[in-house]
Amino acid sequence: MSFNLILLGPPGAGKGTQAKLLIERYHIPQISTGDILRSAVKEQSRSGIKAKEYMDRGALVPDDLVIEIIRERLTLPDTATGFILDGFPRTVAQADALASMLEGNGKSIDHVISITVDNEELIQRVIGRLTCRSCGQGYHLVFDPPVVSGVCNLCGSELYQRDDDKEETMRARLLTYESQTAPLIEYYGSIGLLRPVDGVGSIQDINGSLAKVLEG
Ligand code: AMP
Repeated sequence: MSFNLILLGPPGAGKGTQAKLLIERYHIPQISTGDILRSAVKEQSRSGIKAKEYMDRGALVPDDLVIEIIRERLTLPDTATGFILDGFPRTVAQADALASMLEGNGKSIDHVISITVDNEELIQRVIGRLTCRSCGQGYHLVFDPPVVSGVCNLCGSELYQRDDDKEETMRARLLTYESQTAPLIEYYGSIGLLRPVDGVGSIQDINGSLAKVLEG
């Protein structure tokens, strides 16, 4: 099965977790602007240095920077048979830019799945979140701890807490989501693409709900 999908939802809704399961199921790539920006920050590239100051305070990186990242990424051949956008678009300007770049390539978005979770649950999820430095696998201190504390089950590398997963920054990210990203629910709803999915429950059950939407 092949499709171009947007996963929409606040930080901590499970977009990244679900995207990883969808890759296994449908063999199409996940494109996470958050992951791409974090690698740029690690490499201390020019865009990484610029992005870091916004990311550290829970704000959005300027549209032109992320739009360029996506424009380049969508030219790679692995996107020819579909892709999963995770964390992009996050503003109406990004959504407009995406629509015109896809149109230019004779493509379009097939589904926008909006994963919904209430704010208090999002905060509990995110402040306990741990990420592997090497392979990016996610864990949670309480809900999904690694077998050995601080060590990735899959590759044995060190786990860390993202700077922007601290409670204060997370609250700022939720406000950013409400003001700048939530309008995309209306945006995609009005063109008939939006499919809401309840993001509370087991990871496998939520994945089943996503598959149901995708397989119609
Ligand atoms: P994420 O891993 O998706 O939660 O993204 C982490 C941070 O990267 C966000 O809080 C933003 O600062 C930045 N970021 C990721 N994707 C975007 C985007 N599409 N537009 C602007 N900033 C972004």
